[in-house]
Amino acid sequence: MTIENSSFVLEVEKLTVSFDGFKAVDNLSFYIEPNECRVIIGPNGAGKTTVLDLICGRTKATSGSVSFKGRELLSMREDQIVHAGVGRKFQTPSVYEDLTVFENLELSYPKGHGVFGALTFRRDQAVRDRVREIAETIFLVDQLDEKGAFLSHGQKQWLEIGMLLIQDPELLMLDEPVAGMSVAEREKTADLLKRIIEDRSVIVIEHDMGFVENIASRVTVLHQGKMLSEGSMERVKNDPKVIEVYLGH
Ligand code: ADP
Ligand code: MG
Repeated sequence: MTIENSSFVLEVEKLTVSFDGFKAVDNLSFYIEPNECRVIIGPNGAGKTTVLDLICGRTKATSGSVSFKGRELLSMREDQIVHAGVGRKFQTPSVYEDLTVFENLELSYPKGHGVFGALTFRRDQAVRDRVREIAETIFLVDQLDEKGAFLSHGQKQWLEIGMLLIQDPELLMLDEPVAGMSVAEREKTADLLKRIIEDRSVIVIEHDMGFVENIASRVTVLHQGKMLSEGSMERVKNDPKVIEVYLGH
């Protein structure tokens, strides 16, 4: 059965993973709309990173379903999930320090099928144009020839986001993208995310509540692998269950 009528990009239903009997994610359901920026918050160990690991195929679920544009991701390999249009950024940046910004982005440009001869030139130009466009989006157009090693921590985070954007995913998942960033870098990252969701959906894990308030369409609060609360930031932060969990820490 197809679910073409569904307006959701991603449908996570009753997702569960058990590590030796410990349920790190427990019967979790949530739904992501097109152009939504969903923020997942929750105390350390709540299962936030594990949720992204399950969606991107890095960790195998015990049960449940993850449907992306009507396709079941839980039966797919990690590379197939990337190919289907799901990009994932991990907590620590992993750009190539010895390569320039240009080369890092070029390397991430989706590989076409063997194109040779007269067409190579046109492909090269298309790649250069796209690299430049992405570099502008991620505030690194003046650093195209800079080696990764010389970028600030924040710039490395942006570059890694750029390396995902160049693959044009429909769903982008970011694990604590502003950790370690300066206030100015955080503000630029918020602007970046707002631009990114014009063309796709984003799931962000984040602790910085000011940042969350700035960017979130909706917030999902996780606690011990389960959903504690969900809705607008306003609703979630006034939810007595959420207040109890955060104050109880
Ligand atoms: P968060 O990102 O919310 O801080 P995690 O998703 O990293 O939390 O972890 C949730 C819980 O699951 C933690 O108790 C963690 O130790 C456990 N966990 C995560 N991955 C594994 C694994 N591969 N094997 C066993 N336990 C794991
Ligand atoms: Mg985590």
